[in-house]
Amino acid sequence: MSAEVIDGKAFAATLRVRVAEFAATFEQSAGRKAGLAVVLVGDDPASRVYVASKGKATLECGMNSFEHKLPDDTDQATLMALVDRLNADPLVDGILVQLPLPKHLDEQAVVERISPDKDVDGLTPISTGRLVLGLPGLVPCTPLGSLMLLKDRLGSLSGLDAVVIGRSILVGKPMAQLLLAESCTVTIAHSRTKNLPEVVKRADIVVAAVGRPEMVKGNWIKPGATVIDVGINRLPPEEGSSKGRLVGDVDFAEAMAVASAVTPVPGGVGPMTIAVLLRNALVAAHRNAAVALADGAI
Ligand code: NDP
Repeated sequence: MSAEVIDGKAFAATLRVRVAEFAATFEQSAGRKAGLAVVLVGDDPASRVYVASKGKATLECGMNSFEHKLPDDTDQATLMALVDRLNADPLVDGILVQLPLPKHLDEQAVVERISPDKDVDGLTPISTGRLVLGLPGLVPCTPLGSLMLLKDRLGSLSGLDAVVIGRSILVGKPMAQLLLAESCTVTIAHSRTKNLPEVVKRADIVVAAVGRPEMVKGNWIKPGATVIDVGINRLPPEEGSSKGRLVGDVDFAEAMAVASAVTPVPGGVGPMTIAVLLRNALVAAHRNAAVALADGAI
């Protein structure tokens, strides 16, 4: 039996259309467009590409995009002052500081400076606390996108056994909190976990966020499980090719033979991340402008 491929690209496209519709009604109600500010320090090529595609996607769904590109040698005080200005700017609803920052900057201090009401990456301590406490707040984009894919496929997740492999602040920990809030029985595995294949085998839901190419094998997976592969890894180039293939943390072909549904890499969780970023910016805009938005509407 072959599993279903979860089409994150199609889901993300639908979400972006919904965001654009809500962005238009927001503009009518608030008398202004929602706005997302993105801050890039230095010229790391991958970060530049991410920032450009985020800016383009923001404009495409009818929001304002404010890009702030600062030189590599920007000092801490200048960056903090920019965050303060964006926090105070009524046209800016969301602030995203592209990580990683150059080594001389204190990344944690910069993230903590972002107003929790504009924290579209959901990484400030206040956003993290709100998530743990079950209070309304902004949630990191990749785990929230992964949860949307799971709920779309499975409906209620209540009572299901979930294993999250990885405990990063960006993915693993918030993912586990979101699954717990859906009443899953959650196990968080990491590099010190003993007998990882056996732990994974118990799970109805497996979320792999490790950064190790094709680590999760087919014989680790419980028959019929749903597998969300967050990992993005580039393999070394094959002969005659300049670029290696992108693979996830799960052996896709093996998982497809055992699971009931699997996200591919690319085209699974990846496209959800930007779509949820846009969604978060618009949710923040509604709150900041005191325009009503039903829970879970977008
Ligand atoms: P981190 O490196 O921050 O965290 C990796 C986690 O995996 C750690 O908790 C680590 O454990 C755990 N780990 C490492 N080796 C093993 C192992 N052998 N067995 C079990 N657990 C292990 O990565 P991120 O969470 O930031 O990202 C994870 C992956 O997701 C990466 O491939 C990244 O590129 C991708 N990603 C994709 C996104 C998307 O949009 N699709 C967005 C963000 C990330 P320990 O804590 O013990 O060290």
